[in-house]
Amino acid sequence: MSVLVVGRFAPSPTGPLHFGSLVAAVGSYCLARQAGGRWLLRMEDLDTPRVVAGAADTMLRTLERLGFVWDGPVVYQSQRQDAYAAALEQLQHDGLIFPCACSRKEILASAPHPGEEGPVYPGTCRNGLPPGRVPRAQRLRVPAEEITFIDGIFGSCRQHLAEAVGDFVLKRADGPFAYQLAVVVDDAAAGVNQVVRGADLLASTARQIYLLRCLNLTPPAYWHLPLALDGAGKKISKRQGNKPASTQRDAEMLHAVLTFLGQEPPVSMRRVPAPELLAWGVASFSVKQVSPLARRVVVL
Ligand code: GLU
Repeated sequence: MSVLVVGRFAPSPTGPLHFGSLVAAVGSYCLARQAGGRWLLRMEDLDTPRVVAGAADTMLRTLERLGFVWDGPVVYQSQRQDAYAAALEQLQHDGLIFPCACSRKEILASAPHPGEEGPVYPGTCRNGLPPGRVPRAQRLRVPAEEITFIDGIFGSCRQHLAEAVGDFVLKRADGPFAYQLAVVVDDAAAGVNQVVRGADLLASTARQIYLLRCLNLTPPAYWHLPLALDGAGKKISKRQGNKPASTQRDAEMLHAVLTFLGQEPPVSMRRVPAPELLAWGVASFSVKQVSPLARRVVVL
């Protein structure tokens, strides 16, 4: 019996949809829909200082205009605090997390050699808070073990959690639950079994797989898409240019995203309504044509 594919797109509403987030939207949509699967939408609005009022609605309107159709209601992480708290409680009950008093400055000072993801936590509070210190964050204890997984685009991947990241934060000193916890809890709750997203999150995947194991949950399949870089070689994080939206511009943008993903939409399709081009993507998408390498793009 074949399993129903459940994919998702999980943008952070910190501004309008940019080229990089559209790459994730298009890739996840085409892969899920081509397999006859479901495609869910989740707004990752946990990091409140970075969330921009109105950005989620603007993103939804853009996605609609481009022809994306999602299944079920949009999930907002800001409304899922109870689920994250329950997961944290389960981990605490199982003795897998510990309170940590260290500030970022202290960690930096004691970990002069950064790992793949910034300074590696040196384990200061792992076996109990030093006397007189107050807990600030909750961290997950990681094993000295290499986590391996197969990525649909990058192939065989591995990360030694203790050496590359160390015990990582699940609840931040300033209050919010960490992205790593929220993403794992939400994907599992929604039955997501296919995660397609930008390659900047490849370095988070081993953490998420380990966290899933701690929560007795099954990891999804992962597909990390090439990163779109701007002309200066930086990750595109906001929409550049402010040309007004128009039907033609939508199709051009979608055409550029599909081309970036190694697909070959006919040139004539730069002028069709965007939903028609997206339907072409669903029918024709070939994952074999996606290159794992980051590429520079001129954002339209
Ligand atoms: N919210 C993340 C972002 O916009 C994506 C998270 C994910 O796909 O796991 O970069």
